[in-house]
Amino acid sequence: MKFNPAKAIQDLKQFGEFGGVNPSITDSSTYTFLHGDTMEETFLGHMEGCFLYSRHWNPSNKYLADAMAAMENTESAWITASGMAAITCALLQLCNSGDHIITSVTTYGGTYAFLKNWLPKYNIEVSFVNITNLEEVKKALQPNTKVIYTESVTNPLLQVSNIPELAKIAHEAGAKLMVDNTFTPMIISPAVLGADLVVYSMTKFINGKNDCVAGAICGTDEFVHQLSNVKNGTAMLLGPVLDPLRSSSILKNLNTLHIRMQQHSKNALFLAENLEKKGLKVNYPGLKSHPQHKLHRELMNKEFGFGGMMSLDFKTIDKAYQVMQNMQEAGVGYLAVSLGYFRTLFSCSGHSTSSEVPAEVQKEMGLSEGLVRFSVGLDNDIEDTLEKITKCINF
Ligand SMILES: *Cc1c(COP(=O)(O)O)cnc(C)c1O
Repeated sequence: MKFNPAKAIQDLKQFGEFGGVNPSITDSSTYTFLHGDTMEETFLGHMEGCFLYSRHWNPSNKYLADAMAAMENTESAWITASGMAAITCALLQLCNSGDHIITSVTTYGGTYAFLKNWLPKYNIEVSFVNITNLEEVKKALQPNTKVIYTESVTNPLLQVSNIPELAKIAHEAGAKLMVDNTFTPMIISPAVLGADLVVYSMTKFINGKNDCVAGAICGTDEFVHQLSNVKNGTAMLLGPVLDPLRSSSILKNLNTLHIRMQQHSKNALFLAENLEKKGLKVNYPGLKSHPQHKLHRELMNKEFGFGGMMSLDFKTIDKAYQVMQNMQEAGVGYLAVSLGYFRTLFSCSGHSTSSEVPAEVQKEMGLSEGLVRFSVGLDNDIEDTLEKITKCINF
């Protein structure tokens, strides 16, 4: 039977300590012990279910981590205070000085900047490739390659990664495949498809409220133990802990994620199909014209659709700015970065979330300066939204 992420979360049955339907929120940074020796054992990581100090583990983050692991079908998960913390802690845990990473050239701007500008300072070499070209990925392999890094559906070009094939390439070379699944929670289950590690910015669809920043790393028990090791774990020593109050609110939102993803997908597909019919250059994995449409169909958990992310190419920056201003005035949504919100958000990628990527690289990877990325909202009347958008374009 095919894996169902929504069912996996529902089957968890997480209760509060006093029978509350929601788990109680941890309001403590430190925890008491009845015996000195239990404290030492906990410190050394030998005690399951005991809490020592909230930067290490705390009950609220553990509940959310268990739910994330269930959704991704991984043994374990770790919660972080941002998506960037999840990505950087996981990569720094896996790589030592002298190691090599292969990454998709189209990734989130912050990830690109970390890989391009930060890791080389520590002698970690990074090759940037077209991740949809598997021959190019193979050619980039080196004896010291530790990680192949990609996004399931890349930002902002919405290229679809062939996770099963990339996993094969990585494993044959003794490397790990790490996948950022921020754009496609529930839609794509990277670990089920062969990825070793799945990272998230929970700031986006998973929380869905744009009221906080958070992240997660999903993987094996062994890897999560390494991350949280008091002597050399990045999650322990770099200190990216999420506040328990936030993790408890994200956990509640996670339980409506399946319905939201279906609605985001339904609305985005409607807009994409109709705007394409009007002759616009639309990029959406659910369209037959999308270069990896067939691959996306093969990889996806069908009931959740093709996701809420779509982009329109207005060719020039001036046209893009004008259309976005018009759309904000007309009430289509907000001119803002980020995604996965209940209202539609739009921004010009090349001049915002991908501005870390140099102009010549943007051009090389096919990122047009007039590309507007949409995170389509949960609008009840999407036909009305389409009408508004059409007027804003044909001003
Ligand atoms: C936003 C985002 C990130 C970074 O996450 P933060 O929570 O902002 O730190 C990483 N990857 C992708 C694909 C994103 O959209």
